[in-house]
Amino acid sequence: MESSITHLVCSRCGTSYGVDEKVTTCHNEDDGRLDIFYDYEIAKEALTKEKVQGRQGGVWRYFELLPVQNQHHIVTLSEGNTPLLRCEKLGHELGLGELYVKDETRNPTASFKDRAMTVGVSKAVEFKADTVVSASTGNAAASLSAFSAKAGLTCYAFVHEGASSGKLAQLACTGAQVVRIRNLETAEDPVVKMLKLVVAKYGWYPCPSFGPFNPYQFEGAKTIAFEIVEQLDWNIPDWVVIPIGGGGVLGANWRGFVEAEILGMVSGKPKIAGIQADGCAPVVRAFKEGQDPLSIEPWANPRTVAGGLKDPIPWDGDAAIKAMRDSGGVAEAVSDSEILEAQRLLARKEGVFAEPSGAASIAGVMKLVKAGVIEPDESVVVEVTGSGLKDPSTVAQMFPEPRLISARIEEFEALNAARQ
Ligand SMILES: *Cc1c(COP(=O)(O)O)cnc(C)c1O
Repeated sequence: MESSITHLVCSRCGTSYGVDEKVTTCHNEDDGRLDIFYDYEIAKEALTKEKVQGRQGGVWRYFELLPVQNQHHIVTLSEGNTPLLRCEKLGHELGLGELYVKDETRNPTASFKDRAMTVGVSKAVEFKADTVVSASTGNAAASLSAFSAKAGLTCYAFVHEGASSGKLAQLACTGAQVVRIRNLETAEDPVVKMLKLVVAKYGWYPCPSFGPFNPYQFEGAKTIAFEIVEQLDWNIPDWVVIPIGGGGVLGANWRGFVEAEILGMVSGKPKIAGIQADGCAPVVRAFKEGQDPLSIEPWANPRTVAGGLKDPIPWDGDAAIKAMRDSGGVAEAVSDSEILEAQRLLARKEGVFAEPSGAASIAGVMKLVKAGVIEPDESVVVEVTGSGLKDPSTVAQMFPEPRLISARIEEFEALNAARQ
């Protein structure tokens, strides 16, 4: 197999880099993302529907459209290849005839970030890096740490003060050097500031889930789009609904849908709806106000139960806005109570336990259907990005503590009678 990568171009200044330059960031330090280009004629030969269907695995079935050049460098935990669940009960509840959940909770570290980090860490191995560093609210770091463990790399994880216990436990156990960073008075993101400081000083390989600091990992999440079209038997849904934190997963999905069409796997593209929490919605605000995607105003005082969406500076917001615009889609913000309601509904109707950040997209669909933006007869795929086990305390607070009795039928019947 041969990657069809050709070169990289900075999304801000347009500087072009060859693949042998081993860059992760633009030398002009302008926080631009080095967008990756491929030779689609080469990719087209290798990635026909039939050939893809004949391959095993998840993310790496699309090797030719990923930026790793030597397949011996692949570091995998069997990520991707997640189910697309037909959700009739939830669809009925929301007033939709054809609703699917792309269940990304099934990834090795229980969030879609594994798709990004398998590529990021494989590229670190290709670059012969020995130390990698993350800046994260938790999921990206937990994933990076797991792949680093597999590859034998040292992993530093700078996380926010409020990172959830589930994510911190994963980090500690997979051996990351975990450091919580205090919030700053300024609009700057403290964990990103720390990441930049150590990368400049020690030359470590940056691998947060933000394109401007590592363009390779960004490519991983586009495989969600490839899988969706294959799972729909090479059809495209009317809508794909995706949560937005930094904007990377949405931007990458769009790349995937665009490339699936270039490869001739499908014709047409879905409308993309991007969902943020209303306590941290810089991308939605920028989209609605028509702000320049390259200078999105940061969000002051982010506050939301959706920890994975708490990115005051959306590093890939430009890619997200472009995707929503080009697709004829929308951006919408949902409240914490709408997110928690959606989390409960998804679990009760379909048995899928999502973390609040992962259920925000469901809350978004509910709102968009009510507003008449998504029509009842349109087909909708919702991406549920992370597992509820990542952040159990938010859920535990919503329910009373289970009752405690002795193992006697009388006690049980008294309790059960009171319940009915
Ligand atoms: C990171 C994350 C997101 C947001 O992804 P971005 O690429 O930052 O937009 C959504 N849901 C979960 C569970 C996440 O971990």
